[in-house]
Amino acid sequence: MEPKKRVLIVEDEKNIVDILRFNLQRSGYEVLGAYDGEEGLRMALEENPDLILLDVMLPKMNGFDVCRALRDKGSSVPVIILTAREEESDKVLGLEIGADDYITKPFSMRELIARVGANIRRTAMAAASAPASDAMPVAGDLSINTDSHQVYRAGQAIDLTQREYELLTFLASHPNKVYSRIALMEQVWNYGYVGDDARTVDVTVRRLREKIEADPANPVYILTRRGAGYYFSVPQN
Ligand code: CA
Repeated sequence: MEPKKRVLIVEDEKNIVDILRFNLQRSGYEVLGAYDGEEGLRMALEENPDLILLDVMLPKMNGFDVCRALRDKGSSVPVIILTAREEESDKVLGLEIGADDYITKPFSMRELIARVGANIRRTAMAAASAPASDAMPVAGDLSINTDSHQVYRAGQAIDLTQREYELLTFLASHPNKVYSRIALMEQVWNYGYVGDDARTVDVTVRRLREKIEADPANPVYILTRRGAGYYFSVPQN
């Protein structure tokens, strides 16, 4: 039997932790809990969970700082931000600092469990589907090692979040094909939600460009087809 996937909940409201723990356990997950940001960061690094549910407003260290610290330390664990606010700026900030997803309180337990499952499956599939290989040139000075999920530009390793990596490899494996933001949400994010959540795609593209493009304002790899979507550009002879 496969070992249970482990979810770390970082949340200071004990009743929320309790109800999340109950529902996640019932769905077959092992659950760890931390009640402040510092403890959450420590447990994330020591316990190596498969996913983190991270509240924003936390004692000692807020959720954004926890997420940023995790990414700075090279962790690519999927992080779902739990935000009490409908603030667009919260969502954007969360994604900019490397969170994979966010969910607004009060949330439906059913949706939360679905998101947890989708984010864990996506990570597991990405790991399992990676063939053994060296870094393969993709286009220009960009190369990807699908074994180690490492991306290089001009031979220099680039630090991408799991989601940025998946967006890049998805687009790069369908060169010059334009995908709408909604299509990318479905293909790369694994669930088809639409509306203003499509903004998530824009934020991730922008971050990716900042990392892989020599001049992010004038990208050569990930291009925008105005009114249509994004595509990975490979020159055609
Ligand atoms: Ca809180």
